[in-house]
Amino acid sequence: MHESALLEDLNPPQREAVLHGDGPLLVLSGAGSGKTRVITRRVAHLVMVRRVFPWRILAVTFTNKAAREMRERLSQLLGSQANDLVVSTFHSSAALILRREAEHVGLTRSFVIYDDGDQLNVVKRAMRDAGIEVPMQPREILHRIDQEKNAARLPEHMQVEPGDERGQLIRKVYAAYQERLRTANAVDFGDLLLLLVTLFRKRPDVLENYRRRFHHVLVDEFQDTNPVQYELLKQLAPPPSANLVVVGDDDQSIYRWRGANVDNILEFPQQYPGAKVVKLEQNYRSDQNILTAAHEVISKNTRRMPKKLWSDRQKGQTLSLLLSRDERSEAQEVARQVLALQREGFIKFSSMAVFYRVNAQSRVLEEALRLARIPYTLVSGRSFYDRAEVRDASAYLRLMVNPRSDADLLRIINTPARGIGDTTVERVTDFANEKGVSLYEALAQPEEIPALNSTAVKRLKVFRNLLSSLASFAKGAKDAASAVDEMLRETKLVETLVAEGSDEAQTRAENLKEFLGAAQEFDLNRAAAAVQAAQNAPEDVPPEVDAAPLTADTPPLQAFLEQISLVGEADAEVGEGRVALMTLHAAKGLEFDAVFLTGLEDGVFPHARALKGEDPDDSEDMAEERRLCYVGFTRARKRLFVSLTQCRSLFGELRYNPPSRFLRDVPPALFGISEHDVPEPPRAVAVAPRKRTYDEDDGPRIDRSYSQASDMDGVTGDVRGMRVRHEQFGTGRVVSTDGSGPNAKVTVEFGGGVGLKRVIARFLIPG
Ligand code: ATP
Ligand code: MG
Repeated sequence: MHESALLEDLNPPQREAVLHGDGPLLVLSGAGSGKTRVITRRVAHLVMVRRVFPWRILAVTFTNKAAREMRERLSQLLGSQANDLVVSTFHSSAALILRREAEHVGLTRSFVIYDDGDQLNVVKRAMRDAGIEVPMQPREILHRIDQEKNAARLPEHMQVEPGDERGQLIRKVYAAYQERLRTANAVDFGDLLLLLVTLFRKRPDVLENYRRRFHHVLVDEFQDTNPVQYELLKQLAPPPSANLVVVGDDDQSIYRWRGANVDNILEFPQQYPGAKVVKLEQNYRSDQNILTAAHEVISKNTRRMPKKLWSDRQKGQTLSLLLSRDERSEAQEVARQVLALQREGFIKFSSMAVFYRVNAQSRVLEEALRLARIPYTLVSGRSFYDRAEVRDASAYLRLMVNPRSDADLLRIINTPARGIGDTTVERVTDFANEKGVSLYEALAQPEEIPALNSTAVKRLKVFRNLLSSLASFAKGAKDAASAVDEMLRETKLVETLVAEGSDEAQTRAENLKEFLGAAQEFDLNRAAAAVQAAQNAPEDVPPEVDAAPLTADTPPLQAFLEQISLVGEADAEVGEGRVALMTLHAAKGLEFDAVFLTGLEDGVFPHARALKGEDPDDSEDMAEERRLCYVGFTRARKRLFVSLTQCRSLFGELRYNPPSRFLRDVPPALFGISEHDVPEPPRAVAVAPRKRTYDEDDGPRIDRSYSQASDMDGVTGDVRGMRVRHEQFGTGRVVSTDGSGPNAKVTVEFGGGVGLKRVIARFLIPG
């Protein structure tokens, strides 16, 4: 691409930001005003026009997916030079740097990264280590540890009042938890940043190497940085004059619950005195009606930087309000509108998205889309890697590079079943604790472990041998796929599943093959990148600067594992031709022609948590919900549908929620309706308790045996002869029914040669 084209389709303030010389720069502006575009163009401009070496540039995005998109865009602009840029999330870049510096923080280069599930196990063990009855839930403690890490505080830096016994207990568990991670040669997500920042605090000489290298640091979505991330930025690009470019929008700060601090952006000019501030005011994304609605909602927040935002796009269509009886009819209505938009509005499925406030809302939406044969992707990047069999496989792989990883060893010590029982495991664990070594080390001489019978000893030996031979295979493995292949063969994970014979086991076996496929794909990408890097080795590197790619000598299996560990919630690719389903939080930074925002009810969105307290409208929680609503609205280019129900069952409760207060802020004219058509709060406000089942990981789980009415709920009456549709069998007529409610069995005469079938009412829709 030619240099001049870089600036052509930018407006004057955007151009000013791209052309800004050296020194700090803040771009603070509303949604859809081209902030992300400014970052991408500025990087390209630095390389093409100012001749900055690509390896001198570090660009930080909020998700891996955003990083990938930015890299692709930059490859189009810069060609192979783009390979030397570091474009990644805070966590990914911190992981790369930490691996290079591992020995400074008591780790080896082959450390593994623990996720939420692993962390919980470690907390439980740390609670035991702390040696006292801790009257708290492991989850609660883990949350507190995460918060401390977000705030850049190690156990010794925790602020605990002398009389605060609870705080002291937590500190003790936190310290034991860190100890356990170090023994396992493992880190958690928070450590990636915390350990790096503390290393840089203690070792200015190590930090200096990176300062010498990165002359330009750029950050997207800066409003959602937390203190530890900000400290890292300040270390790499120190005030007052480093080339730190941050872009963001205080109105889109939605990660306070992860420690994000909106003051970081508001106070940036004080932290970096002399920073240039650019404001972008033209929105290129949304039609005017959508922008006005978003503006009306967000301007109810009192503490915010007032911003102008205008659009020269047309007014566009009015917003659509969908009012349904319950969450099932809501989902069906969304499905109907999606189909209509595609047929009559000529909007592609891939340009549509359905948002919801909490993950639990997605199941019913998915069902309705499936039934209506609408292709969709559930954007929840981790789901594949979180499957039990995939986690088992990853656990083996992680042990292959790092046998000390206790959490992984405990996961697979008896998977596939090899006759090692709980009592044996407990004895091994006690022994390891006593010796202060990892389980793998404790297994070196199982005879020495007290109270084990000879069968147990024999089995442990076989298991230990399996792990050590896998580990030595991994040392020589030339790529990730061969290591995965060897592991699957030696552990017989796939064979065991196939032998089970059930359909479910079959699917799980296929997932493992898919996992092998993921490794092969990883290897191909890595090989392609290596070829490019060789052709394109950095020239003119000053001798004191280390310009090698940060990934340079990470062994392939380890690099593959790292990539898996860092996959986040919002990283899934939306498939070709598919509607995207995601939480509002995952929608940040994205845009779609048509957006459906579901569950606009007080108690769902805004979340029930924000409704507590004396004056909820004045609370920080409510302000954050409002920002989330602003984020949701401003994802839409042309069509915005907001939907609400009269009653909804969620988290095992049937609720009659009033319409969301955010709806009241949108002038009715924007919906093309008059004042008195605005939905009233339901007259009867009742909450019927439902059977609850709690799942530690996901809050209360919905018990679907009480599932809410579907459109076929009326099967108690005489529905014989009614026309119905079924996903698999097509359309037909009801012949008879057995039972009532959504779980009633309905006999249907289907057409198309299918004939009589007995099906469950909730899998049918009228028509
Ligand atoms: P958000 O606040 O949601 O992250 P943003 O400020 O980062 O939004 P972008 O995503 O960069 O905004 O841009 C929004 C849309 O407007 C994109 O489709 C982008 O290509 C387009 N756009 C940005 N600037 C211009 C411009 N000067 N001319 C035409 N289109 C533009
Ligand atoms: Mg953006």
